[in-house]
Amino acid sequence: MEIRVLSPDLAAKIAAGEVIERPASVVKELLENSIDASARQIFVGIQGGGIDQIRVIDDGLGIPFDQVDLAFQHHATSKIATDDQLSSIGTLGFRGEALPSIASVSRLNLITRCQSSDVGCQTIRDWGFSEGVTPHGSRVGTSLTVSNLFGNLPARKKFLKSSASEAGKIQDLVYRYALAYPEIRFQFESGGRTKMSTSGHGDWLEAIESVMGSVTSNQMLYVSGEDSDSGYKIEGFTGAPSLNRANRNNITILVNRRWVYSRSLTFAVDEAYHGLLPEKRFPICIFNLSIPLSEVDVNSHPTKREIRFHNESKIFSLLQRSIRSSLISDSPVPLVHSPDMGRVSGDVSISGYKPAGIYSRTSYSNSNGKKSDTHSLAQAGIGHKGGYTDSQDMLSTVRNVIPKLKVIGQINLTYIVSEGPDGLYLVDQHAAHERVLFDQITEKAASRTSQIQPLLQPAPVDLTPTQLEVVDSHQDVLRSFGFEFEKFGEMTVLLRSVPNIIKPDDPVKSFIDLLDIVAFERLMRKKEDAVSASLACHSAVTAGMALGKEEMTSLLEQLERTPNPHTCPHGRPTLIQFSNYQLDREFGRR
Ligand code: ADP
Ligand code: MG
Repeated sequence: MEIRVLSPDLAAKIAAGEVIERPASVVKELLENSIDASARQIFVGIQGGGIDQIRVIDDGLGIPFDQVDLAFQHHATSKIATDDQLSSIGTLGFRGEALPSIASVSRLNLITRCQSSDVGCQTIRDWGFSEGVTPHGSRVGTSLTVSNLFGNLPARKKFLKSSASEAGKIQDLVYRYALAYPEIRFQFESGGRTKMSTSGHGDWLEAIESVMGSVTSNQMLYVSGEDSDSGYKIEGFTGAPSLNRANRNNITILVNRRWVYSRSLTFAVDEAYHGLLPEKRFPICIFNLSIPLSEVDVNSHPTKREIRFHNESKIFSLLQRSIRSSLISDSPVPLVHSPDMGRVSGDVSISGYKPAGIYSRTSYSNSNGKKSDTHSLAQAGIGHKGGYTDSQDMLSTVRNVIPKLKVIGQINLTYIVSEGPDGLYLVDQHAAHERVLFDQITEKAASRTSQIQPLLQPAPVDLTPTQLEVVDSHQDVLRSFGFEFEKFGEMTVLLRSVPNIIKPDDPVKSFIDLLDIVAFERLMRKKEDAVSASLACHSAVTAGMALGKEEMTSLLEQLERTPNPHTCPHGRPTLIQFSNYQLDREFGRR
């Protein structure tokens, strides 16, 4: 499409505001332009944290000679022309503001050539003033060099951080785009040193490896899902719980391949990991949500970082469900690894359990051909259910008791170390406690002896649409477990009592947390079990909690007594064993 200046009317409808705050904003706008121009290769090079110089070179469509001047006018864009196009934007840019804004605060040099033209052209803009457009030899594509950013605005320049810190922000940004577009070959240089490059082959996991390293990419689980009503889809990779970080910076959410920030979707990711990560630890993941263009509004924020959704709660629950189900069915299990495992595997007390293993490159690319078939959410759900019942059946026939264990200590505030009749046993404290509580809760529910604790005062609880839906669909079951409540306005219920198993300090928060857990547990099991499993998960000790010796002993005793001690309600093992034979072999005694 030709570049045209938007009508004043349409221009007025576009979210206004400062686009260029720092060097990273320049890089973002230039990268987006290269991607919109269908580039297959993008080079980004910076000097002095981008304050001294930023260079972005692409092999995209280029700008026709006669439109170069136009590209530097405010509200001039080739991406939209009419009002109705504003409600279904498929390009990353659309405001026609980036080039003029960048040109007005820097010295800019643009060289560009289109496929259809034999020579390219060049334009130099110093603080917005043009010296015209002149012919210039060039390959097809566009090269932009931005120097001395904010050189004409000392006050703005003062607000920038150190060049190392600005370089860090740019690096983070380029990495996200390299992750988001595995089919584009990215190269990033800072101070003349190559920091990252991707192949552009289009393999997502390979891009993750190039950007984040193989230790990370080897622990990523494939996620996919679809909401059958709305047609919303999600695809991506999420880290096994063992791969976690101290902040949420490694959660990358793309909507129609636009990198966005969304508080509520980030929360959906947190929720999917509920009970699987230690407190204050966060996952590494990247997802793309495919949502019809007309159901997202990208024109609500000047830098397009935050967007609005027509149906946020659907997206929220799709995201949460899809991640959760892949975590539950694919999560690797901390089994004892030894080259001789084959010979001694009979000694491992959970011999019926087969870990799904870490998602391997081969299985991802194999499945890639028939991707949505093999990895649709429905399939994952069915696959998981199958796996769950299988391992349960097998365990109940193999062996339903665990030996008497003596507590030695705790590792990483997560595993209980114990000695048993045949070697060393490691118990996952959360999984074990979850199992104990789950069996207790189901037994009490069956014998109708669930105990309840009334609240001192009935408490109004505001619910999200998903929580409300859970309340509506599970009200009888929730009541039978000891939650007493009644509807109190559109989105509010009045909570009167909770089951005894819930700690009394914050019953409202517990109730809300529980509804969130039920929201994905219900995918996997019948209503009663979904509520029992959620109550167990919510009330169990978490990983990362220091336990005293007595608490650990009591937990192991309860586990010994419980009917299905070997797995947690999700099918993960509660304990693993190193037999005396294995220990002897490892130490070269046999
Ligand atoms: P927007 O991206 O919102 O349209 P910009 O100011 O970023 O506005 O760019 C103005 C126009 O210049 C774009 O619409 C596009 O036609 C053209 N353009 C900018 N950068 C490139 C590029 N790297 N390759 C091809 N065309 C480009
Ligand atoms: Mg742009």
